[in-house]
Amino acid sequence: MPATPAWPPKSLPRLFVRVPLGEGATIDLDQRQANYLGNVMRLGVGAEVLLFDGASGEWLGRVEEAGRKRMTLTVGRRTREVEAIPDVWLAFAPVKRTQTDWLVEKATELGAARLMPVITQRTIVERVKTGRLESIAIEAAEQCGRTVLPQIDEPIALARFLDQRDSARTLYFADENGGEPAASSFKAGPALILTGPEGGFTGQERDLIRSAANAVPVSLGPRILRAETAALAGLAAYMAVAGDWRL
Ligand code: SAM
Repeated sequence: MPATPAWPPKSLPRLFVRVPLGEGATIDLDQRQANYLGNVMRLGVGAEVLLFDGASGEWLGRVEEAGRKRMTLTVGRRTREVEAIPDVWLAFAPVKRTQTDWLVEKATELGAARLMPVITQRTIVERVKTGRLESIAIEAAEQCGRTVLPQIDEPIALARFLDQRDSARTLYFADENGGEPAASSFKAGPALILTGPEGGFTGQERDLIRSAANAVPVSLGPRILRAETAALAGLAAYMAVAGDWRL
């Protein structure tokens, strides 16, 4: 994928669909998408849209039939191949709903390949609705031009998360008590960034994370960032130093 997106951005609406795309395929949109294209965007028969299915790149679609609650598209040529996404996962302690929604939207735009809610001792949210987070990631991917959605995991307890992780993937632990400066710590290769909740990790959790194999404590600067800011700052710093902002 080019480092600098084509500009000005294409004005065609982009839609994620849950069926495999291919030239000549017919797609029946669900009611929500039909309403969006027909009633909000005011597209009628013959209008063009961009479609992606999360696996086969991006395709040009054409409206064949438009009803009040339904719309049928035919798929034309492929407009883009699947882009390469840096192999970076973001594990974050979920915060309040609005901030978690924001985190997921922005992490999708920044290019996280996988999002992993991790429950810590000071995590205060009781439920994480992954279906809702997936819808937010879809909208962000539609808007920012991604053709592949981030994988969104079910929440997992910190101890289990550490037990199950593959230690070949470097664990960059955002530690507000100090660590390697972000600009010199991120290296190319499979990466996992871990950030804590509003109240931070407990001392016991910090010790556990620091003692995990291939864990690198990282500082995100001299100021204490809010939990959601830290997650996105870590991801942005990774993209600049070791991800696809360098290309
Ligand atoms: N325990 C802290 C306190 O109350 O002073 C606040 C924790 S901070 C709001 C939430 C999380 O963001 C931390 O657990 C850490 O992962 C990350 N974080 C915030 N600022 C950071 C920094 N300057 N360097 C590294 N990580 C940071």
